[in-house]
Amino acid sequence: MSFQVTATDGAARAGILRTPHGEVRTPAFMPVGTKAAVKTLHPDEVRDLGADILLGNSYHLHCRPGDEVIEDLGGLHEFMGWGGPILTDSGGFQVFSLLDTILAVDDDGVTFRSVYDGSRERFTPEGVAAIQANLRSDIAMCLDVCPPAGVSRADLEQAVRRTTHWAQRQRAAPRAPGQLVFGITQGASDRVLRTRSIEEITALDFDGYALGGLSVGEPRALTLDATEWAAPLLPEGKPRYFMGIGDAEGILEVVERGIDMFDCVLPTRTARTGSALTWAGRLNLKNARFARDPDPLDADCGCPACARFSRAYIRHLVNQEELLGLRLLTLHNLYFVLDVTAQARASIETGELASFKRRALDRLAPVT
Ligand SMILES: [Zn+2]
Repeated sequence: MSFQVTATDGAARAGILRTPHGEVRTPAFMPVGTKAAVKTLHPDEVRDLGADILLGNSYHLHCRPGDEVIEDLGGLHEFMGWGGPILTDSGGFQVFSLLDTILAVDDDGVTFRSVYDGSRERFTPEGVAAIQANLRSDIAMCLDVCPPAGVSRADLEQAVRRTTHWAQRQRAAPRAPGQLVFGITQGASDRVLRTRSIEEITALDFDGYALGGLSVGEPRALTLDATEWAAPLLPEGKPRYFMGIGDAEGILEVVERGIDMFDCVLPTRTARTGSALTWAGRLNLKNARFARDPDPLDADCGCPACARFSRAYIRHLVNQEELLGLRLLTLHNLYFVLDVTAQARASIETGELASFKRRALDRLAPVT
């Protein structure tokens, strides 16, 4: 058994996921290392921030440097110097979110133009299984059709049908030794279609299951409502992965509804725009009010940036485009999100998630 629930609190769960490269404590936030790096950080720094697992991206690594290059160099762990667990996405999300690069979608797969050089590429379930086998990730994701928010019901129904068909094929495809494979359910917040997708995908008996196609532009209330009724439809004994949520409020909401894993570029991307995620809301360090501010980004933060550096200094670095500014904000933002997740986990273990969440949301309310 690769996954064990060790504590529950209402619908929320704490657990341990065992992979070929070690254990993942859940709930787990997965920092995104799209191109085999968490932008600006050394892998040891990411580990020291509290991350158990990283996410890599099949689309980008297939295009550059090539998954066969990475295979020749011993796989993605060896290539990027990260010895811990890695989950790779299938590339489906990138293909379907870069709508104007899609050339054709049919029942066999999807053809698109690479964002790197415009070359013609094709992803099929067998193809993305082979890419992820070359990368030797601990967890491979199935190729799915992820439509944007607001598509017609007919399009949503076709996405569910193709996602199941592709999952059946990928389930039968070769994988790296010991590699876990997760199925992805679609259907947006449509109860009938999502339920159908969950029934079809869970019948294939994967190692874990994702809610895909949520948090793709629909109102947050719809996202959370769908998560609330959909998560309990997934098997209790398998990890549940919500694809694409990484703000503190969102994390607490999906954890409360029984989600075990999540990822998002938000903490790292926000850092690159010069903003810090804090318990007092989001701080834009470019703002002149921080010019003489001697305080750390967040008084309660234990990260390497807050241990030594002032808002005024980081503001100066950001405004002068000094690379250290990006690094310090990335360290802080990832620590913040990982710390919120760790505190949620500890609260589940003591049966106090509801009160922790209430206090956290009160604190996180934007300061006016
Ligand atoms: Zn900090």
